[in-house]
Amino acid sequence: MNCTRFVPILLLAAPLLVSGPALAQQAAADKPTPPPAIKSLDLTALDKTADPCTDFYQFACGNWVKNNPVPGDQTRWARSFSLLRERNRFLLWQELDAAAASPKSPLQKQFGDYFAACMDTSTVEKKGLTPIQPAWKAIDGLTDVKQLPALVSQLENHGTPVGFFNFGVGQDDKDSSKQIAQLFQGGLSLPDRDYYIVDNKHFAEIRAQYVEHLKKMFALAGDAPEQAAKEAADVLRIETAMAKASTSRTDLRVPENRYHVYTLVDFEKMTPAFDWKTYFQAIGIGSFDSLNVATPDFFKALSGLIQSEPAGAWKSYLRWHSLHGQAQDLPKAFFDENFAFFGKTLQGQEDPIARWKQCSSMTDYALGEAVGQDWVKQNFPPAAKASMDKLVAALEKSLGDDIKTLPWMTDPTKKAAEEKLAMIRNKIGYPEKWRDYSSIKVDRGDLIGNVHRSTVYERNYNFAKLGQPVDEKEWGMTPPTVNAYYDPSFNDINFPAGILQPPFFDFTIDPAVNFGGIGVVIGHEMTHGFDDEGSKYDGKGNLREWQTAEDRKAFTERTDCLASEYSGFEAAPAQGDTAAQMLNGKLTLGENTADNGGLRIAYLALLDTLAAQGKSIDEKIDGFTEKQRYFLGFAQVWCQNQTDQASRQAALTDPHSPGRWRVNGSVQNFDEFGKAFHCTKGQPMVPASSCRVW
Ligand SMILES: [Zn+2]
Repeated sequence: MNCTRFVPILLLAAPLLVSGPALAQQAAADKPTPPPAIKSLDLTALDKTADPCTDFYQFACGNWVKNNPVPGDQTRWARSFSLLRERNRFLLWQELDAAAASPKSPLQKQFGDYFAACMDTSTVEKKGLTPIQPAWKAIDGLTDVKQLPALVSQLENHGTPVGFFNFGVGQDDKDSSKQIAQLFQGGLSLPDRDYYIVDNKHFAEIRAQYVEHLKKMFALAGDAPEQAAKEAADVLRIETAMAKASTSRTDLRVPENRYHVYTLVDFEKMTPAFDWKTYFQAIGIGSFDSLNVATPDFFKALSGLIQSEPAGAWKSYLRWHSLHGQAQDLPKAFFDENFAFFGKTLQGQEDPIARWKQCSSMTDYALGEAVGQDWVKQNFPPAAKASMDKLVAALEKSLGDDIKTLPWMTDPTKKAAEEKLAMIRNKIGYPEKWRDYSSIKVDRGDLIGNVHRSTVYERNYNFAKLGQPVDEKEWGMTPPTVNAYYDPSFNDINFPAGILQPPFFDFTIDPAVNFGGIGVVIGHEMTHGFDDEGSKYDGKGNLREWQTAEDRKAFTERTDCLASEYSGFEAAPAQGDTAAQMLNGKLTLGENTADNGGLRIAYLALLDTLAAQGKSIDEKIDGFTEKQRYFLGFAQVWCQNQTDQASRQAALTDPHSPGRWRVNGSVQNFDEFGKAFHCTKGQPMVPASSCRVW
């Protein structure tokens, strides 16, 4: 989707799962059909030939995995996330389609028109590249790299994607009550810096295919073959230099590594080739004297690159980013070529997704809190909110109990941890106060114009936060989203209405399954407040050590145990002469810590809940005890298939482990699992030694 130019929220928060497959266009025959209901616990998914003590994922998911290959329009197909995401999107489409046909309010008219403009592919074809011509004309006028700050700001002011870097306003890591200017590395098109710089056959092939893709896109835009080849070489050279100067994802997970406050004067001295004063003035942000430069090495290198590359090369770079960043909104030829490389080659997605799916997601992305108002009325009754409040309270209590009994933590640190826990705020379902999008002009015949105006609106909304108090009620996800997150600066957990549905959350089923589903999700998000990253922040959301030195050392020994355990898991199998890819235990450490903690504390909460109801955890339903149903409910959230390409990409870029290891890694470290399934110590799911943080 269209990237907004904010400090990427994904680095500051911790969503449960990365977003879905690359959007792509137009299987004309694909008509919306109501998706099937999703079973909370599906006993037909089990592979009963597998031994749960040897490979629990295979036992819980084996039959589902065998019978549910990745559909052509997806790259990952998960029993819970994907099915629910498809269902929510269908419900959203019904709402958008009705609003586009006969809106009943100004709000419905606005999002109905936004959706209709996206669906109107004949107008998109007719307009061709006309909507981006003004930007290209401005780029053509570049004669000297000194003009870059003025040009880049001019393009951004019209919503044109430019690459280069990310800039926005965000909370100061060391004083979360302040909102300050922040600069962050960026400027790449491939999914990670490794794609540019790792010297092996796999990446060399991808780079060669990328160059072909660049040439094809420039040729589609009307450039002669020699010109397209020159532009492609410019883009690859500039992006490779940016990649070399970028900090790795793993290093960026360490909050101290992305906190470098400079005065504007010092920052300008350090990066003389780009006139920041001109840029900041032209983009219309208020004045400021200092800013956080998350990745100083990147900006030093960028300044050098601006001096060493001629104006002509920057023209190629800017033309490319305007094409690439808007390819999904351009005529079919651009869309298809973009899909062929970024969808099919990079991720193994066979077919483009249907236009109605693309346009529904796009409207949710741009106007989510307008669309969401009707969506939650239909799909999130007040009783669901009340049940969630109870579940969250149960999980808070069990995390508190867990902290009290932790074997490795001293009392002063336990007290500090309990204080932080007590300060976590909960946001459930949807915002108390909705965003007002009324100033965005939506034109039913102007898809790209709508996207530009929405992009600029979001940017200005973010800029207006500079120096203002923090709005604690703000949400980072739209209501129909199937995901959840913890934000360390807010110290809050957020559960959109979209995930509070079966199979995660089901009124009609026994508590064990709900605790294994949404209970573990809640526990996961709470534990993020105490993972290797979240634990660096205090209850007020400030980067400040609250553990004693002794406890921090003990904590790190435990997180090191998890990191090395998960580094031993295979993320993608060997294929031909391409070696198997192992998981990066450091990149996935926060998520794995949260999975392990979530599984433990949701179990404790289930015990409490059943005890309060006078029920036994050994009671059987459909042949399984409540204990066993808890672990099965948990595991079946993560049944999934994934293309090999997507597995390889995720191993480099996704801080989450694949489903198999989210399940087997977590149960291996929790002795209650072995007891529930009567395993013997030494079997694979009950190893002689295991890791535990929380
Ligand atoms: Zn997470």
